[in-house]
Amino acid sequence: MITRHFGIPVTSPGAILRRERDLGTPLGQETAEVLRSGGLVSDKIIIELIEDWLRLHGGHGFVFDGFPRTLPQAESLMSMLTKLRTALDLAVWLEVSEETVRDRITGRLQCGECGFTTSSSSAQFANRPVCPYCDGRLERRNDDDLGVLQTRLQEFHTKTEPLGAFYKKLSILHRIDGNRDRDTVFSDVSKLIEDKTAK
Ligand SMILES: [Zn+2]
Repeated sequence: MITRHFGIPVTSPGAILRRERDLGTPLGQETAEVLRSGGLVSDKIIIELIEDWLRLHGGHGFVFDGFPRTLPQAESLMSMLTKLRTALDLAVWLEVSEETVRDRITGRLQCGECGFTTSSSSAQFANRPVCPYCDGRLERRNDDDLGVLQTRLQEFHTKTEPLGAFYKKLSILHRIDGNRDRDTVFSDVSKLIEDKTAK
């Protein structure tokens, strides 16, 4: 939604890794197993992927979704950006309850072609699971298992939660209630981006 609305490229480690997996690269095959079990891919690999992506696509602004997830990742991002003479404008923390996470995981569909995601409860997709943008097939992501949720929550508490303090110290942290519907959350995030780009 951010790419369509603002023309800013968005990526996530998950999207990059799924692409590697679909291309059958050694890295993709190696990390597919970790993703299936709900673990986090090593900081080293994630950092390398992000650094490559930044070099190729990050020249005129970028948004990372689900990165950084650990302190070492956050620190590496800072040094990458220093090298590129770029500052981080915003860190948006979408706060969601465990219940919301559970609901979304069980109902999420993703386009195998372009990565568009939607929920299976959206009535218009119920009978015809086809992507509205590219006619690709909408499928359940196979790492979206409730079984891996516990592992992820554990990883989140020990590794990701400390990032709140890290970005708060840099005065760029904004917490947004992510339990509301997609459009409301998007409108709040949009306001933050607009405030930044208006300056
Ligand atoms: Zn699509």
